[in-house]
Amino acid sequence: MNLYGSKHVFRALAWGMVSMGILMGAIFPLVAVQMGISASLALSPAFVGTTLAAGLIVGGLNFGLASKIVRPRLRNLTGRMRQVRRAMDRATYSGDWSECDPAVCQLSEQAEDELGDVADSYNALLQALHSAHRVEERIQSFNNTLSSQLDLHDLCDQALTLLMDHADADGGAIILEKQGEWTIPTSKGLIHPEALLTSSALQAAHERAQVRRFDLPEGVKVDAVLAHFTPSDVLLLPIKHHGILLGWVMLATSRPFGEETTRLLPLMIQGLGLALNNALLHDDLQRVAALDPLTGLYNRRFGMKRLDEELARIQRSNTPLSLIIIDLDHFKRLNDTYGHLAGDKVLVRAANVIRDMLRKGDVVMRYGGEEFMAILPGSDRDDAQEVADRIRFAISQCRIDLAEHSLSVTASLGVACTSNDQLAEAEPLMRLADSRLYAAKSGGRDRVVAEGAGQALAS
Ligand code: GH3
Ligand code: MG
Ligand code: MG
Repeated sequence: MNLYGSKHVFRALAWGMVSMGILMGAIFPLVAVQMGISASLALSPAFVGTTLAAGLIVGGLNFGLASKIVRPRLRNLTGRMRQVRRAMDRATYSGDWSECDPAVCQLSEQAEDELGDVADSYNALLQALHSAHRVEERIQSFNNTLSSQLDLHDLCDQALTLLMDHADADGGAIILEKQGEWTIPTSKGLIHPEALLTSSALQAAHERAQVRRFDLPEGVKVDAVLAHFTPSDVLLLPIKHHGILLGWVMLATSRPFGEETTRLLPLMIQGLGLALNNALLHDDLQRVAALDPLTGLYNRRFGMKRLDEELARIQRSNTPLSLIIIDLDHFKRLNDTYGHLAGDKVLVRAANVIRDMLRKGDVVMRYGGEEFMAILPGSDRDDAQEVADRIRFAISQCRIDLAEHSLSVTASLGVACTSNDQLAEAEPLMRLADSRLYAAKSGGRDRVVAEGAGQALAS
């Protein structure tokens, strides 16, 4: 039996100790003879039998003692390990890891021997498993929260809140590239975050697209409770999806970021890359679905949705809303004379003129071929008539240059207003604006009609 390489340590120990005892029992009579005891006595079967039996008993007792000391500690270790393994199995499916917390499962083996080392290694392994699980859980919860978010602004807002929370940051911003331009869809705790966009450090980081510690531009400060300060530690982390840089997360703090934080952030931001890519695609799709491809104005379908929303809003705030329908005059003739491409050019120019004449918050759509509709929340008839007059005038002043000709065009406009015309619904309001447009046409075109129904009034 190979005692040193045995797969059964205690069996090997028993063999070793008992054999050693018997050996000692066998040697003892010879030692006794050497010591002067008579050979007839020392080598007598009774004496040899006694020493062999004594050796056997001492070997057996030794083994019993060793086994009694070591076995319970080993059993305790393996028992706890099995318990934790079973708890982990349960936690994998239930999601409740409280039973596997190192505070609960840690072995309190105080020994300074090899068994103590085994317990320490086990505790370290438990701690490592627990940390790995916590990291996974954090990333998963971060990803789950973000993956359900398709609205770009809400997504950035939520991601920044979670990241700042995780990193215990005082300030932060998300910087995104959208249609070739850098924008900051969300920032928290920063004064003048827009200064980030002109920062040379950001430009330099952009070229390398790697995590960087970074010096904040002078103007960017954290807005603390009673003071504004330039944070001491600033991290700039690239947001990528399939290797393509989508933007940056900037996090700033007055204390240095911890090691665990800086190690975990890139993992969390990987998930943000995927969610952001989805939101950007969604944003693009929505924009494409909402816009008229020729003029870039809202299309009729989306514009009508906006009209309903605006009507609901003004009802809550009890303010007026006006509609202006704009129809280019003799457009068919223009098309027939100069061709469809020239007609398209005129449409694009007219759309731009109308857009430029409106305020922020107004909505304009291409309602049909050469017909546009503007929604002016908060404007009564007088305001809307003034805007309509300015649009009419601006369109009439336009010169559209073709290869050989310079074209001009006029428009007729019909105005209706919720307060002046006592209408609250989209349908009758549009019908009224349309009938006034018709009145403007029959009144001679190039004019605005904002009163009466079907009654032409000179502008
Ligand atoms: P009125 O002064 O009474 O409004 O006359 P009109 O010729 O403008 O009116 P009508 O509705 O008869 O003609 C509209 C024309 O607009 C017919 C169509 O060829 C043209 N049109 C519609 N959509 C487009 C477009 O996308 N591009 C171009 N070039 N023309 C278009
Ligand atoms: Mg027309
Ligand atoms: Mg028309």
